[in-house]
This record gives sequence, C-alpha cells and structure tokens, in this order.
Amino acid sequence: MLSVTPEKTYMGRLPYGVDLQEELNRICRVNKIKLGRVEAIGAVKKARLGYYDQSDRSYRFVEREQRLEILNLTGNVSIKDGEPFVHAHLTLGDHAGLAFGGHLMPGTIVFACEVIVQKYGGKPLERGFDEQTGLPLWSDSALSSS
Ligand code: ZN
Repeated sequence: MLSVTPEKTYMGRLPYGVDLQEELNRICRVNKIKLGRVEAIGAVKKARLGYYDQSDRSYRFVEREQRLEILNLTGNVSIKDGEPFVHAHLTLGDHAGLAFGGHLMPGTIVFACEVIVQKYGGKPLERGFDEQTGLPLWSDSALSSS
C-alpha cells in the first residue's frame, strides 16, 4: 500500500447547475490536487449513476430526472489520462426517504452541494487499464511501493 500524508483540506460550496463530476475534477485540477479524498452532501436536480456489470465488463446507467438529496458522496482523487480524476460513489435519497446509489457519472446536476477535499502529498496514483476487470484501476506498481 501507498503511504500518504495529509497536506491541505479544502472546503466549500459548488455553484448551482454545474455537473457534479466535472466540477469535482475541475476543483482538483485548479488546486493541483493529484492525490486525495473527497466527501460531499447536498442535493441534485437530476442524477446519472453507473453500475458496472462485471460479466459484460461495461457500465449500465441509472438516470433519474428527479430532485434528490445527496445523502453521501465518498471518493478519491488520482491521475487518469494525465489529469486529476475524482472517482466517487454516492447514495441519493428521494422524497420518501428511499435511498439508492452508484458510481458518479457525468450528467448529475448540482442543486446545492457542500464539499470537503483532502489533498495528500506523495507520489500520485495513476489509473491504467486492468485486464482482469476491464476497469481503469490503480497500477500494481504504485500499490507495491511503500
Ligand atoms: Zn466506481
């Protein structure tokens, strides 16, 4: 496993109407956060989540044109295709308090969102294609270094 050192914590509110995935990536790019963790709560105007079908090795999408609460968003920051990339999963709640969730995909639009991003120092983890799963995972070499 990689040993990381907390460097700085960012806290703030996302603008109304932005794409949640794109805005999280942008915040990390602008603040040069290449390694870290993300958490958020708030609400979205609509949601687009992914579910990875392990046999098909492809994402299926859950799309909801619905106002929903972000009960929890948890994610990490690493490098994908040379840029900081946020991999986040979220749990959403509807008007009846029922929850569902998945992998955050572009197309999830913010109504209000409070975010905390923790920046870690150390050699950034890089995502590369993993043959076994078909996913862009962290490379083995990064995990085996101390
Ligand atoms: Zn995921």
